[in-house]
This record gives sequence, C-alpha cells and structure tokens, in this order.
Amino acid sequence: MTGRWGILVFVAVFGVAGLLPASDRARAAPDLPIATDMRVAGDDTQTRFIMDISRKIDLRVFTLADPYRVVVDIPQVTFELPPRLGDKGRGLIKAFRFGLVMAGGSRIVLDVGKPVRLDKAFVLDAQNGQPARLVLDLSATDRESFMRKLNLESSARPALPQPAPVSPVASSDPRPIVVIDPGHGGIDTGTKSDAGDDEKSVVLALGLMLRDTLEKGGKYRVVMTRTDDTFVPLADRVRFARDRQGALFLSIHADALSKREGDAQGATVYTLSERASDAEAARLADEENKADIIAGLDLTREPNDVADILIDLAHRETKTFAHQFAKGLIGELRGAIRLHRSPMKSAGFVVLKAPDVPSVLLEVGYMSNKEDLKLLKSDAWRAKTVETVARSIDLFFSTRRVAGAASPQP
Ligand SMILES: [Zn+2]
Repeated sequence: MTGRWGILVFVAVFGVAGLLPASDRARAAPDLPIATDMRVAGDDTQTRFIMDISRKIDLRVFTLADPYRVVVDIPQVTFELPPRLGDKGRGLIKAFRFGLVMAGGSRIVLDVGKPVRLDKAFVLDAQNGQPARLVLDLSATDRESFMRKLNLESSARPALPQPAPVSPVASSDPRPIVVIDPGHGGIDTGTKSDAGDDEKSVVLALGLMLRDTLEKGGKYRVVMTRTDDTFVPLADRVRFARDRQGALFLSIHADALSKREGDAQGATVYTLSERASDAEAARLADEENKADIIAGLDLTREPNDVADILIDLAHRETKTFAHQFAKGLIGELRGAIRLHRSPMKSAGFVVLKAPDVPSVLLEVGYMSNKEDLKLLKSDAWRAKTVETVARSIDLFFSTRRVAGAASPQP
C-alpha cells in the first residue's frame, strides 16, 4: 500500500528552540512536552509502539537499512523515563532509545530485527483523562519491499544540520589548541552501568573538569566538541578538531563489558591503527564506531571525508605525536589511578582519524565494574584523574617544544 507512505512527509517540526544556544535551552526546559511512558505491544508480524506525552506534537518518521531501523523525529522533549527502558523490545522491535539529536530536536530510534512496513504513525490528543499518545504501527515485510520504500523516501529525508565550518583565523595567540572530546551525547548514551548511569554523563563531567583545569593553567586554548547533552556525529568531531587546527585531540570514554564478556577494570589508552592490537581493542572500536548508527544517522548521506582517509606515510608525524602523548599519558596515570592490565592499545577508531591532529582516546574505566563505577562517580577520583591528564598534556607539549627547538632549521 504505497499510499500509506504518504505519512512520511510531515511538517517541519523544528521551531524557534533550534535557534537557542545551549544555556537557553536548559532554561527553556520547563516548557518542553514531557514523555512519561513508552511501551511496545504485539508480536513478530505486527507491533505497536506507544509513547505517552504531555501534549500533542508533530512527528516525522523514516526508515534505515543495514541495520534495519525506524527513526522518529520530534521536537525537543523531556524524557521522564526509566534509564534502561528501551534495552529490551517486543515483537518486531528489538530495542529502542530516545534523546536529543540536535538543538531543539529529539529522536526515537527503534531497532527492528527484520524489514518492517510502517502502517500508521499518528499522535492522539489528550482525552478522557488519558495523556496525548504517539503511536506507530509496524508490520513485517520482505527486504525487497523495504528497500523500495527506503529509496522512495530517501530523497525527502532530512540530514542533521551541518555545523558551520570554522575558517582558521590567523590568531596572535600562540598557545596550542587542545581539543577535548567527551564521547557520545544526546540520544547516544554510550555504555551504561547496571543501575542506569550513562557513559555520556560521566565523560562530559570529566571533560568539563579537564577544560577548567587546563584553562586555569593558562598554557592552552581549550575547545570542546560538546559541552552539553547533545549528540555529535563522529565525523563532525574530527572535522571540529581539524577546522580549529588542534594540536592535540583527546577523546574521553568509559568502557563496559557484558556479563558474557567477563569483568575488567582500569584505564586504557588507545591510538589509531588499521589493524587492532588485540581482540578487545577491535571489539571496542566496533562499539565506539557505532555511535552514528545508534543515533539513527543516514550514513549514505553523511559526508564521507573521514572514513576514506587512509593511514599512510603522510600521517606519520601525527601518528608519532599521538604515540608520544599516549605513552606519556600512561606513564603519568600509572601510580595515580588504576590502569587496565594492558593499558596501551590501538584500533580503527573513526574519531581518531584526523590526519593532521594527534588524536588519542582514553577509556577511563569500566562502567560495568562496580569498583570502577564508584570511582568514576567520585569527586576525589575525578579530580586526581583530571590533574594527571593535565600533567601529561604539559609533558607532551614541553617535549614537543624541546624537540622543535633542537631540530635544525630547514
Ligand atoms: Zn564510548
């Protein structure tokens, strides 16, 4: 029934809120519609998704393949929902997640295990004491029909707004630029603890503390890929560092293992390599590289300049500097905080692919480990970690300066 896909063309839903800076968005929060429940009913042939919401909102729905997903874009909403609500789905919906995807816009992403057809998508007004409800009806279909519909809708599908390019201005400020990249954000929560703590919040808190510490030291210009709970695509993080001509890029994360994978503790430092240093590094890079899929990005329409960058000899200097920083970081962290039993690894992390910015990814610990989690949430541990990372950054730049001064003029 091709006519049904007419519902995919919805009014643009992103209003004035999208123009507000982050600080004002937080202040505007009391006016946002509030989602109070999400539930899934049905079976493997027909499944209904329902969200209760404080008032009627507009929505726009599209599908994505490989892996199969249904994406629902709505205006920014406050989700008052249990943190692990979407971990398990039902029927055609295997799992789902929700959160901010851009300024003024929230998103719900449904992971569907097989090709589905969107039969209905609507929002009911509040009535008879019931809250307003967003309803999606899905039914099973075959891949061929799914792909045909997908191609039809893809031209009308909106991409996330591109961040405005930054033209490198000649600055009289000679201090090196340090780029801090707190992982994940918004709809992409990253790993979670059993109790529902999110990696995205833990690493943002650390990133902000590191920025404050570095700024207090006065030796660097510090910029951050995100300072609030917003989703940032991987390629945008790399572009951000390159546009600002970063002298160092530090991505901060917190890993987690599933029960099946066992238990691990401590911090690990990762650099970029084509071939993963071991199976665990390969697993982690796979997980971290999924961020865009998790957020329901249409990767076929995202600019691909990062994915295509080859690691060749031209990037040798960047790689050498990244290694140098990674080694120094481990040296400083050792004795200050707990390290993983093999703390230096490498793998194909998309976020580390800037060819001209030395880039390192720090996994500060494991959200899945009880002791690590306690530390990750403790002010004393955070302060010690941030202080140690800041010291390793000082060490890195002081050695670079010495090396630069000692090398002969061309
Ligand atoms: Zn992460």
